[in-house]
Amino acid sequence: MKHHANDPVLAAVDLRTGADARALLQQVLDRCGAPHAVAVFDLDSTLLDNKTRQARIMAEYGERHGVAALARSRAEHWEGWDYRVAMRNAGLPPDQVEAHVEPYRALWRELFFTSEYCRLDTPVRGSVAYMQAVRETGARICYVTGRHEAMRAGSEDCFAQHGLPEPDGDRVQLWMKPTLEEHDDDYKARVHADLPGLGTVVAVFDNEPMHVNDYRRSFPEALVVHLATDHSMRDTLVDPGIPSIADFGSWS
Ligand SMILES: [Mg+2]
Repeated sequence: MKHHANDPVLAAVDLRTGADARALLQQVLDRCGAPHAVAVFDLDSTLLDNKTRQARIMAEYGERHGVAALARSRAEHWEGWDYRVAMRNAGLPPDQVEAHVEPYRALWRELFFTSEYCRLDTPVRGSVAYMQAVRETGARICYVTGRHEAMRAGSEDCFAQHGLPEPDGDRVQLWMKPTLEEHDDDYKARVHADLPGLGTVVAVFDNEPMHVNDYRRSFPEALVVHLATDHSMRDTLVDPGIPSIADFGSWS
């Protein structure tokens, strides 16, 4: 994200980059070496970037509805989640945007939460190298995501394609919502009760301010790290004391 200064949530954040971010990531690895360590990672906008998926859906919308500008939608047209911005960036005249909002949203809802389309996601910068380093510490890795079970196959394909540690049901686990309908926040709160069954939670990475704040309350001994990629634009500030990094680029 380029516009932290204009973002009421991210502007407040301690945004570590370069050597500071790298030192933080090393600190996490040091903790991962402890016996029974568990490291928790969100997927969307933490390890994986959805912009290619977003752009593909918008391009399909453009093709189906004969909107040439939208049919040329590309990942670089996306800045966060705002599809109006992406439509304008793709070259749609601003006065035509509103007419496409509702039909576009309908197609987006149909395609976005599917295995087929989540295969298109790409790694957040540095995330593959960093996750391999986490794997090498011997810590248990638990991906905790708001994606639902119907997206498991596509998610696992995406891990394999990019070299992220692949779930094996034991050392690497992928926890998903049973259904699309359950709210992410309710699901993640429930997960907090189950995580200690895997071991000692030593680190958590997530991009949603509300989620990192909740993790910190549930696991005060863990190193909770906020990813300042994008977020769902609720007016929740990241708690002071939770460090924030732009991505994992300082690692690779
Ligand atoms: Mg996320």
